[in-house]
This record gives sequence, C-alpha cells and structure tokens, in this order.
Amino acid sequence: MIAEVAFNIPLERSFHYLIPSALEGMLAPGVRVLAPFGPRERMGFVLKVLSHSPIKELKAIRRAVDPRPVITGERWQLASWLSDTSYCSLGEALAAMVPSQLRLAATAAATPSRGEGDGGRIELSTAQRRAVDVIASAVNARRAQTILLHGVTGSGKTELYLQAMALVLAQGRGAICLVPEISLTPQTIDRFRERFGDQVALWHSRLTARQRSDAWQRLEQGEARIVIGARSAVFVPVARLGLIILDEEHEPTYKQEDTPRYHAREVAHARAKLGGAVVLLGSATPSVESYYAATKGADRLVTLPERVEGRELPKVEIIDMREQLARRHRMSPLSDRLQRSIQEAVERDEQVMLLLNRRGFSRIVQCPACGTVVRCSRCSVPLIFHAARGELVCHYCNFHQPPAELCAQCQKGYLRFRGTGTERVESELHRLFPAESIARMDADTTKRRESHRRLYDAFKARQVIMLVGTQMIAKGLDFPQVTLVGVVSADTALNLPDFRAGERTFDLLTQVAGRAGRGERPGRVLIQTYCPTHYAIEAARHHDYQRFYAEEIRMRRRLRLPPFVRLIELTLHGSSRQRVMEAASALAAALKRTAARPATRGTSSPARMVPARAAARRRVTLLGPAPHRIPRLRRSYRMCVILKGRTLGAMIAVLRRTLQPGRRFRGMPVTVDVDPL
Ligand code: ADP
Ligand code: ZN
Repeated sequence: MIAEVAFNIPLERSFHYLIPSALEGMLAPGVRVLAPFGPRERMGFVLKVLSHSPIKELKAIRRAVDPRPVITGERWQLASWLSDTSYCSLGEALAAMVPSQLRLAATAAATPSRGEGDGGRIELSTAQRRAVDVIASAVNARRAQTILLHGVTGSGKTELYLQAMALVLAQGRGAICLVPEISLTPQTIDRFRERFGDQVALWHSRLTARQRSDAWQRLEQGEARIVIGARSAVFVPVARLGLIILDEEHEPTYKQEDTPRYHAREVAHARAKLGGAVVLLGSATPSVESYYAATKGADRLVTLPERVEGRELPKVEIIDMREQLARRHRMSPLSDRLQRSIQEAVERDEQVMLLLNRRGFSRIVQCPACGTVVRCSRCSVPLIFHAARGELVCHYCNFHQPPAELCAQCQKGYLRFRGTGTERVESELHRLFPAESIARMDADTTKRRESHRRLYDAFKARQVIMLVGTQMIAKGLDFPQVTLVGVVSADTALNLPDFRAGERTFDLLTQVAGRAGRGERPGRVLIQTYCPTHYAIEAARHHDYQRFYAEEIRMRRRLRLPPFVRLIELTLHGSSRQRVMEAASALAAALKRTAARPATRGTSSPARMVPARAAARRRVTLLGPAPHRIPRLRRSYRMCVILKGRTLGAMIAVLRRTLQPGRRFRGMPVTVDVDPL
C-alpha cells in the first residue's frame, strides 16, 4: 500500500511513500507519519492511502506518529479553506492546525462530561437579557451566524459569554472561547472554571506538551466541552462544536504572523459555516471590519451601552504635552498634573495604573557630539536600552550588547539615553514616590511561568500601589481599587506608518480607560498627548465609538482601504539590497501585467463580455514596490508590493499566475500576507 503525504513546506504538492508491512492497516488520512525527505526525516500528514502509485522506487514511511487521525471531519475542509485563502500549501495549513508536540494516547478513555453549566445566578440587566435572547435564537437555529456584541468595558460581556456557553452545553454541544493571549489571566480563567468546572480546558502557548495533548484528547472525546485559549485554539477538535466566541475581537494578536498568516476571526467564520455554529464577537471597540459587516446587515449587532449596576464610565481628561514642553526645560515623562493626581490617589489609599506601550528604559541611544544613534547591526532599527538587564537590545532580533560610554563613531561624546519606556516611568515613580510600592508588568517582567500571576496577586492584595505596564495591563484586569489610570503617551501607536494607527490608538485608550473606576469609587483617566485634537483621542475622551467609527469609515472609503477592499502584502527578502530592489520592481511589473490580462482558463467568458460591474469587482490594483516598514531585518533586506482588490479570489488568481512554486519570484522567497495588519 501507498501513502500520499503532505509536508509543512511551501510546495503545493504531496509525495508518495510505501507503507511497510509493520504499519499496514495503521495509517489513515489525518495520521501524522515520519518519512525520509531529502537528507533528513520530516513529519507529514497522510492525505490518502492508495493501492498503487505511478512512481517507481518509492521510499518507505519510517513510523506513524499518531495511533489515530488528528484531522477529521470538517477540519479537512477547514484546512483546504486555509490553504486557499492564505496562499499556503495544504501541508502548511495542516501543520498550523495541529501542534507539532501533540502526542495522542492509543486509546483515549472517554468519560463523557457530567451535567452542564449552572447558568449562573446573576440577575441580568435589560440589555444583557436582550442580548441573550438574540444569542439563544441563533444557537437554537443551529445555523452558522455571526453576532457582534458591542459593549462598553464592564458592561457584562463576559457574563454573556458564560450564558451563551451554558446554552450550547445544554444542547450537548461544545464551545471555543478565544481570548487574546495577554488577557488569558488567572482572573479570566477562574471565572470560567467557577461556572463550568472541569468541563473547561485551557489552550495557550505556556502549556507543556503533556498538558496540550491532554487538553486535545479531552476535547476531542467530549470529556471537556469548552476550550478557552489563544488564537490557535480555533483549530482544536471540539466535539459537536456549537459556538465560537472571540473576546476582544479587534485584537491584532488574533493574526498569526508566520505562514500561514491567518486571522482567527476569519477561521472562526469559516469553521462555523462548515459546522453550523454561532460566532459571537465581543468588544468595547469593534474592529472597523466587524462593525462594517454588522451595519451592512451581514452580521447581527447587539449593544450593551452601559456598565452593569449603573456604574459610571470614568472621566477622561487630556493633558496637552505641548504646553508642558513649552514650560519646562528638562522634562519628566509625567506631567505636573499627572504627578499631582497620582499623589492625591495615593493619599486616598487608592491604586494607580500607568500605561506606556513601550518596553525598556530609553527609545534611542544617541551621541550628543556627532548625533549618531546606536543601531542594531542586523536590523535597521535603533537599540533600546534596558536598564534592568544593563544592555542595549534589538526588539526585533534580540541582538544585545553592553552599552558603551563613549560614542563608537566619533569617540568624543558620552552617549545619552533619550525617549521613554516603561523602565524609565518606573524609575521616575520611585524618584517621586520613594515610600510607595511600585511594580512593572511587561514582557520583560513576565517571562517566567508564574511571574504574571505573582504580579497580579500582589496588585490585587494591594501590596503594590502603582502598576506601570504596556498594553498587558490594559486588558481584562478588574481591580476595584484602581481609581486613576494614566496614559504616559497616547502617541506611541498614533505615529506608526499604518492606516490603522487611529484605530489602534482609540482601542488602546478605551481599553485602558476601562480599567478605572470598576468599584464603588468613580474612576479618572489622564491621557498625555502631543495631538490632543486627533479624532481618535477626541472620541476616546468621550467614550464615543460611533464618533470614531464615522470618521474612520469615511477615511477608509475615500482612500479605498479595508473594509472596502482586501489587501495582500508581498514581501521579498534577500541579502543583497540591489537584488531585492530589482526583484521587487520586476515582481510589481509582472503582477501588473497579469492583473491586466484576465484569466482565460475553463469556461470563463472573454474579457469584453464581462459586465462592467463584475469586471470592477475583479479588478486588482497595485501599490509599490516600496521598502518594508523595517527595511532590513536580521541582515535581510525587504521590499513590499501590495495588491488591492475587492474579491480575494481574483487577487489570489493573479498571484498563482505570477509567483513560482514554493512562493518564490526569480528564486527569491516571497512572504504572502493576506489581509495584513
Ligand atoms: P465586560 O466583559 O464587558 O468587561 P464583565 O462581564 O466582566 O464585563 O462584567 C463586569 C463585572 O460586573 C463583573 O464583575 C461581573 O461579574 C459583573 N456583572 C456582570 N453582569 C452583571 C449583572 N447583570 N449584575 C451584576 N453584576 C454583573
Ligand atoms: Zn536586530
């Protein structure tokens, strides 16, 4: 017998292998195997078992990895959907859906889960009850449908997720609840566990291989019915899936940044369609794409306009840093007003959170004599000084070196650390409030397994009074004693070369503002900015999503940007700057030629007979070539070309006719990012 096997490689083809007699009868589609591939052995997925092959002198499969298939049912169709829409091979798609460390036990003892959720004893608000009705009718219809739950922070969205799950469980079906990795906090997990006990399985990057395999099997067997997890949990084989929830659906972490570059929201839609499940998207700041789909009537929109129990949204004040700059010569990252407000909060025995979405101490290290900025030797970015580590670090490739005192360029100037990161804010707080207990929560202080929990517990127990952090502190935390939230700079996202800069800024400000005043005492938010009149900041100040959306959608329409078009970003990589630039120009020219010449395969009608509207829908245009936002990364030069069009199919077709097999162009690797963020 012959096995047809797909590997995790960029080639859109499969390979035939002999099945040795020892493995006869043990291999089925969806089983992973180890097989010789080139000079080494690779893990691949069996697609089919055949009785003969046209190819002579086949190599043999070495061994089977799984005792039974890891891909079954509609997850096969999901894999081919993923391969089609993200321009990756079937093998790459399959590999993305199954963690490589997954090991299944030969026989899984299926103990079906006992009982269902208790439904909760909370008295729902009127708005919550209305939302539950909409969700219930969708769940009962057992048809694929998307509901967008737009609820301000603290409006009881999580409570609705719990109720929606209880409904699905009562039907004997299961649910996936996706949360951004950073908000997979002990607090969130506890809430789900409290309601559903051991019917809940967790899925995130910090699980050991053993825990992961265990969770997979319990879900597959229906022993656990709910999985709470980060992005890749959308692929887990939950038995009789009825509901997929995306909490904070606007979060960019739902996008996978390696091939296949999928968005968990899109996968959720596709999977729900295949299995007749409901997708519930929740956010205080829905993505422009999701909100647009809801206003167009494609999806249902439900709103929770108020916080539960009549709690007020915090008062947001803007601090115009231009005034501060004009008044002061040497500036603290914390304005006078913010310093005073922190002082007052501390005197009232309340807690304070300070957000700055930048790690490290300084942003650039510069020589005052010659102006040289210390840069990464491999990437085109400045090195960031990390005071706690005593090192200069590249945030892109992790290159690090001790800081020199003198400028290496001119040997004259003593290097200065300019700009502000979370470490500098922390040290400034220590200087201003030496008697207070201050902690920092960012990727640097939460590397170890339990460190996040420890910081969290210390803040909860009020052993820590002031917490400084990156966006990690903006999400999901619920501390009733926090009355003051300070945003050290609202401009970090605003100045990125990204058409979503306004959206990111609005999201972050709204989320972090939602951390204030969740208890009895009212909350206050102070936002420092150099752009106080920007619409994203104005809208965040008034907690006004509609105002933000109205402005944003107008800009997107005018500039022909998503959601009015789809984008595909192509990035060429290479060690020679010259060659990458030439290849990028040639690629752009080739794409332009292909896009202008309609495909003539199959029975499709000649170009002149296609109605004008349909032709416009299929039109593909081009941006670039242009240097990537980071033109050099890990010694590799990068140039981009962006395809723009209304139908993804037409754009993918242009790519298929232009790129070489293995996602290359003129032999150079090309990264394909559909719907780039
Ligand atoms: P969100 O997810 O929108 O931020 P949560 O679901 O976390 O909101 O609700 C905020 C707080 O209010 C939580 O402590 C939650 O237990 C509580 N809560 C939710 N719904 C109600 C309700 N109907 N009555 C009383 N408390 C509620
Ligand atoms: Zn680097």
